[in-house]
Amino acid sequence: MPNFQVSDQGEKLPNLDYTPEVEKAVRPIYERLSQVIPEVEWPVFAPYVKAINEVKREKNAVILAHNYMTPEIFHGVADIVGDSLALAKEAAETDADVIVLAGVHFMAETAKILNPEKVVLIPDQRAGCSLAESMTGADVRRLRAEYPGVPVVSYVNTPADVKAETDVCCTSSNALHVVESLGVDRVLLLPDEYLAQNVARQTDVEILAWRGRCEVHERFSADEIKSYRASDPNLTVLAHPECSPEVLEASDFAGSTSGMIKFVQEKRPARVVMLTECSMSDNVAAELPDVDFVRPCNLCPHMKRITLPRILDSLVYGHGEVNVPTEMAVRARRSVERMLEIGAPPEGRLAWNLTGTGQDVALVGGVARSFA
Ligand code: SF4
Repeated sequence: MPNFQVSDQGEKLPNLDYTPEVEKAVRPIYERLSQVIPEVEWPVFAPYVKAINEVKREKNAVILAHNYMTPEIFHGVADIVGDSLALAKEAAETDADVIVLAGVHFMAETAKILNPEKVVLIPDQRAGCSLAESMTGADVRRLRAEYPGVPVVSYVNTPADVKAETDVCCTSSNALHVVESLGVDRVLLLPDEYLAQNVARQTDVEILAWRGRCEVHERFSADEIKSYRASDPNLTVLAHPECSPEVLEASDFAGSTSGMIKFVQEKRPARVVMLTECSMSDNVAAELPDVDFVRPCNLCPHMKRITLPRILDSLVYGHGEVNVPTEMAVRARRSVERMLEIGAPPEGRLAWNLTGTGQDVALVGGVARSFA
């Protein structure tokens, strides 16, 4: 039986039945996922996993997946996984003809900005981000007029028009390092209010911030950590720097998603809670069955728009192509490349200082839009 069907329009469509051939072909993948995907659910995912991996090879495509993707994507079809910084670096280096970004829209734009000649696809164009949508390029131009000469550092969680108005981008892995590398007394650090506050606590550089927030990380609270610790005093608490400073202060470690994964891989705490999007715990748990993960479930509704059927659809039909106007892309690329040139912070500065006593930030705009 051929492993494809032909659509009414004549396209070759993969066969999506769960046959013994499919079961055999993807069994090694399921062995890695058996900790987090019940056997009864696997027949739903398996045909897609096989089909996506085949179509990907045919089209010389690469799938870059963020750490927040669900395990069947993260372990089943992704070629490269990581945080925003890792994905930006890989996007800059890939020799594939097609990049499928299993993540949110600003990540796909970043991949396109770095690879203007390649086809970049996002499986669902609606996969946005509350942080990225909190500001526009016009906001940055207004701030530049109000604060002439103050360099603008923007988180990569921004749309291309903001990156185009930015001096240098940063991620949660390198924000403090980028701010301090500029050698100035004052910086506009946009658009994440909490990330800016967490940087300000660790540096003498004056930080001017925007009132943007991640709708996933702003939901965690120091009281929640207190109640976890009350039920298990030996619990290790890891937080993402998009959480509030109070949450970081109540945690044992703070770092980017990759920083948190590295911490768990190296320290192997008996029981851990990761205060970030909940799929990440599933992805790490699949690799580390000896670690017990407490999973407070704050889902990112935007990341969860990316599914196996949408990835397959995007690969087969080229749906979800991302384009950035050339002049904007050239300017935006400069700010991303400057970040890549500055590079990662030294090993000892990858973790965030949890009790830094630096200064408060001055908020210079943005709308408080709480999703908590
Ligand atoms: S987790 Fe937060 S920062 Fe990441 S995409 Fe979702 S809303 Fe944006």
